[in-house]
Formats: sequence, C-alpha cells, structure tokens
Amino acid sequence: MSVHRSPFERLREKFDESELRCPACGYVDTEGGWRVTTSGGRVRYQFVCPTCDAVETRELRLG
Ligand SMILES: [Zn+2]
Repeated sequence: MSVHRSPFERLREKFDESELRCPACGYVDTEGGWRVTTSGGRVRYQFVCPTCDAVETRELRLG
C-alpha cells in the first residue's frame, strides 16, 4: 500500500480545502469546486460563478 501522493494531488487537496469565493459578487461555492485541467507542466484551476458568470482562473506550475 503506497501513501505517496503526487504534487498534483497535493495541490488539488490544497485547493479543495480553500474557500471558493467569487471575487466579483462574493458568492461562496460550497459544492462545485474547481475545474482542473492540465497541460504540460501546468495545472489550471478554473471556477465559473453560477450567479454572475465571472470566471476565476489560477494557474500553477508543477515541479
Ligand atoms: Zn459571482
């Protein structure tokens, strides 16, 4: 049984634990969470606010 976790999984965990709040209208999402896409060595987190359609994007580089 391995307990090793990849950097990606740890990053995701960190995001999952943080409060997801729309900077435009203040809406706090408690169920949706970030949409995660990866390309090359980058991870992009995107959240589309269900109330005002603002898009919050954060991009992280792995490694
Ligand atoms: Zn919003």
